[in-house]
Amino acid sequence: MGQYQEKDMDVLEASRLPVGEGRRLIDRLEQERGLPKPKMAALIASNCSELREYAGAKARAIADARYGKGIFIRGLIEFTNYCKNDCYYCGIRRGNAKAKRYRLSVEDVMACCKEGERLGFRTFVLQGGEDPYYTDGRMVELIRRIRAAYPECAITLSIGERERESYERFWEAGADRYLLRHETADESHYRVLHPYNLSLAHRMQCLKNLKEIGFQTGCGFMVGSPGQTARHLAEDFAFIGQLRPEMVGIGPFIPHHDTPFANEARGSLELTLYLLSLLRIQQPDLLLPATTALATIHPRGRELGIEAGANVVMPNLSPTGVRDKYSLYDGKACTGDEAAECRNCLERRIESVGYHVVVGRGDHRGRI
Ligand code: SAH
Repeated sequence: MGQYQEKDMDVLEASRLPVGEGRRLIDRLEQERGLPKPKMAALIASNCSELREYAGAKARAIADARYGKGIFIRGLIEFTNYCKNDCYYCGIRRGNAKAKRYRLSVEDVMACCKEGERLGFRTFVLQGGEDPYYTDGRMVELIRRIRAAYPECAITLSIGERERESYERFWEAGADRYLLRHETADESHYRVLHPYNLSLAHRMQCLKNLKEIGFQTGCGFMVGSPGQTARHLAEDFAFIGQLRPEMVGIGPFIPHHDTPFANEARGSLELTLYLLSLLRIQQPDLLLPATTALATIHPRGRELGIEAGANVVMPNLSPTGVRDKYSLYDGKACTGDEAAECRNCLERRIESVGYHVVVGRGDHRGRI
């Protein structure tokens, strides 16, 4: 934690507002469910303890009104760390020859689900690199197996970009939800983070396709990724306002030592919390996770995330033998604990801030 330098928001492209004006913009965000981009950029660049407190209290009240004191849990199964992409920020990028690659078999995944169900999980999230071994046919087989064994559970996929037909096959096989962070809604910033063969247009098209097919869809971005400014973040908020996803996942960027961004500063805790609150205020119905990356940069990251307006946590169900190999960034939290320990620890943490774990699918509650 302490070894990384932290980065403050680059305020060059938007100037700080007086606190009173910031509060008025937060009220306006609540009423209008969005702000013009320059106003949003200024509000983000004005991140300070007073505005974080104001936005945090409002966000928490909004979340409580909609979702009560219940926090949804999802069991994360990191089933492959092979990846054909070379995103500059990610520790399992193709170009990282030092990554120790692994792939769980269908039987391994089924064993994770079995343990997860015993522990009260009713959503399984299959996350992985873009692994060509997991063809559409193999994914369909895996989804069908889980669907047949756990008809009452939700199945979430987080396996990157595929063509519309593939997403349709996954949907028909029984998957209900899909997480695909857009990473940044700004074209030039997208180019800073990704090699030439990947495009923001394709990623956004994937998100549109997923929504049209009927998936409960999550997008999202890293906070404090290299080159990110308040203007880019305002672009993210505008994109989210248009897409109206069911979920938005955000967490601090944390450098990985074997990537081109090894020496970049990590994203800040305070900015991540502030943005969680602003997201809750902009879209009250959102499923908003307090992410593992947030837990990684602060020992009480998840609790602080909940206090800022988050209502979902996604602990790890992957076998402990592979946990440390799914290494997107350095120092990842909770790689040593068995799933059962994670579950207990999580419950205590959630209760320590006055909330409780909901055993159930934890579906999106619909629009207001
Ligand atoms: N291959 C899948 C899953 C990616 S991993 C996909 O393309 O969607 C899930 C998320 O982890 C990514 O979308 C990214 O936002 C985040 N991530 C990757 N590297 C990170 C880093 N160094 N710091 C923080 N988050 C990171």
